[in-house]
Amino acid sequence: MTEVCTVNHIDHVGVAVKDIDVAIAFFKKVFGVSDAEVVLMEDQGVRATLIEVSQTRLELLEPTSPDSGVGKFIERRGEGLHHLAFNVTDIEGKLQALKTFDVDLIDQSPREGLSGTIAFVHPRSVFGILTELVESVPD
Ligand code: ZN
Repeated sequence: MTEVCTVNHIDHVGVAVKDIDVAIAFFKKVFGVSDAEVVLMEDQGVRATLIEVSQTRLELLEPTSPDSGVGKFIERRGEGLHHLAFNVTDIEGKLQALKTFDVDLIDQSPREGLSGTIAFVHPRSVFGILTELVESVPD
């Protein structure tokens, strides 16, 4: 029997924004979210933060340059929903499971991300949804 990629829950939803400070101020003022720390992730070309909107987290992503991945995304499609992140246990095993289904992986092996250990799956394999797997790092 083939092992499937079981998911714990939706970890967060990624949102591409032009100005993360403007976006944080908006979500604080309008949706009453708590203040959030912005982290520069140079390898991914973004300034990013996780904000908590009740039980769901949004990952706001501001490109550091127009030719970064998120920069090109905003250029092509404008601001908006960028990716969906599934929380999983044993991310290495889950990537292996996806490979057995010939799912196209952007990251062949996990790497460190804002929300834990992460790996991206190509949107062409998931009905146009850029999909991220996240394994939470224990506190
Ligand atoms: Zn993410």
